[in-house]
Amino acid sequence: MVVQSACAMKHLFSYWDSIADKIKNAKHVILLLDYDGTLTPIVERPESAYLSSQVRDCLQELVSFHSLTLGFISGRPLNDLQAKVGVTDALYAGNHGLEIEGPNTSFVNPEAAEAIPLLHTLGQNISLAIAGIKGAWIEDKRLTLSLHYRLVDEAQYNRLNDIFNESIREPLAYDRIIVTSNKKTYDIRPSVNWDKGKAIEYINKTLFPKNKPLILVVGDDKTDYDAFRVVNTTGGISIFVGNASIKAPASYFLQSTNEVHQFLLRFQSTLNCQ
Ligand SMILES: [Mg+2]
Repeated sequence: MVVQSACAMKHLFSYWDSIADKIKNAKHVILLLDYDGTLTPIVERPESAYLSSQVRDCLQELVSFHSLTLGFISGRPLNDLQAKVGVTDALYAGNHGLEIEGPNTSFVNPEAAEAIPLLHTLGQNISLAIAGIKGAWIEDKRLTLSLHYRLVDEAQYNRLNDIFNESIREPLAYDRIIVTSNKKTYDIRPSVNWDKGKAIEYINKTLFPKNKPLILVVGDDKTDYDAFRVVNTTGGISIFVGNASIKAPASYFLQSTNEVHQFLLRFQSTLNCQ
């Protein structure tokens, strides 16, 4: 017999009727979507992750609902995220929420902005240090860095880890950076008290100082967990994309990006019935 823990994630579509009621009854809804692994499948190189025109059209139609604020929240830099998604008049939060832009909002975390020169130099140093490892590369996203190693031969992983750990040893020891590991990527962020969850709190407070909107957030990796935790405390709906056996702090899960696309269609129909 399989015993499920009380906090196990539930499949979103199995509870759709009650969720649709919640959406219909909300005065205002915020829907925040991650990009890679959520709207598009994970690919070998991030520049190859394209959104289908069908999904983009659906998202663009969602923007026209006055009862909805649509946003995208990703580890990608803001300009890259905006270009990849290509939906106008939406809210965009890049670099894990360190930079936010949209109708009536423009924000860059000031402490992170101060760390740009440090990150740039660190990015150059890591880039030089890993030059001999085929398939490893550093993406300088100004406010953060990513070391991508999806294309590295597994036999090289230990060597890569040793070189990487040596490169970040000093800024890590002086608490200048935070390093997280995610799906064949190391994310390096400035050591500031900010994440996707904090970005959601900022959006909520700035755009909706008086009313309490219903917040839905959809994401697939560990950086989304901060967002899930904040949304859970607001009585919102947190949705993990991936295998239900993963212990993500979300209330619901969807198995794949295809299911996320189905969810968007259901969500749109629900708003139409409001
Ligand atoms: Mg993702």
